[in-house]
Amino acid sequence: MILQKVPPEQIIIRPPVEAYSVLIPVTGGCSWNKCRFCGTYGGVYGVIQDYAIRPLEDVLRDIDSYSERNYHGFPVFLAGGNPTSAPTDYLVKILTHVRKKLKNVPRISCYAKALDILRKTDDELKQLAEAGLDIVYMGLESGSSKILRIMKKGTNAQSMIIAGKRVLKAGIKLSLYVILGLGSYELSEEHVKETARVLTEINPTIFRFRTLNILPNTPLWEDYKSGKFQLLKPVDCLKEEYEIIANLGPNVTSQVYNDHISNYCSLESLNIKEDREVFLKTLESYINDPRIKNLPRKNLTHM
Ligand code: SF4
Repeated sequence: MILQKVPPEQIIIRPPVEAYSVLIPVTGGCSWNKCRFCGTYGGVYGVIQDYAIRPLEDVLRDIDSYSERNYHGFPVFLAGGNPTSAPTDYLVKILTHVRKKLKNVPRISCYAKALDILRKTDDELKQLAEAGLDIVYMGLESGSSKILRIMKKGTNAQSMIIAGKRVLKAGIKLSLYVILGLGSYELSEEHVKETARVLTEINPTIFRFRTLNILPNTPLWEDYKSGKFQLLKPVDCLKEEYEIIANLGPNVTSQVYNDHISNYCSLESLNIKEDREVFLKTLESYINDPRIKNLPRKNLTHM
């Protein structure tokens, strides 16, 4: 199948929580584009998109256009795989323009990759916070360096910890994604223990669970089809989530969400330190439910 290449101003994904936000494309594609479980910009949605930083004038013109059409009072999501890969002064101009042209914006957010954060100085991160960047969504995926290496994430656990802490220190909120099942059965225990350890070290504002589904057009697809990589059963995904929460340190006060179609539960907490016991009890009741124990695993190929 020949995939159509789409320009950077075409938005391919955004987090579910940004469904009702003003979406402004800043970058197209992903500057890394190598993670084995991800094909977002490589064809899983029927198109491909090369990495590019949009011309500043085009982004500012989009903001003006939203302003003229009275899109005031909405959160703003700066779209693209990793806008924080763009130069800081470029991003500051965009953030400042959003704040100037759109009134009562409750939140400005974007995706961020740990490597891009590490490339910025503390002062640059502070400039982004001061210009109005409220929160970044970062894929931790796993706290295990081994799994991150196998999955070609391009980052290890220590880099994730440093990047996460620097985001928070700059005054930007941090939302991390954790993928249940990313280590398959072989590395499930390591995935759980190391993810809990990294989350404890960072104590992010939010962390969100996603469940691994392997989509065609991802590098992991062949391993899945050949039986080399196995998906966890639903009950085992819930067990991983249980163990991650159970292994968190007592300092962790993060909000926790299962806010994705891939999840097998929809539990939420506004403070996992306060809700840990009830969260675990509820997960336990799911895990012990015979209907869930026997629920067959379905690989979602469209999301
Ligand atoms: S998971 Fe994120 S960093 Fe990795 S290839 Fe996909 S968009 Fe890029």
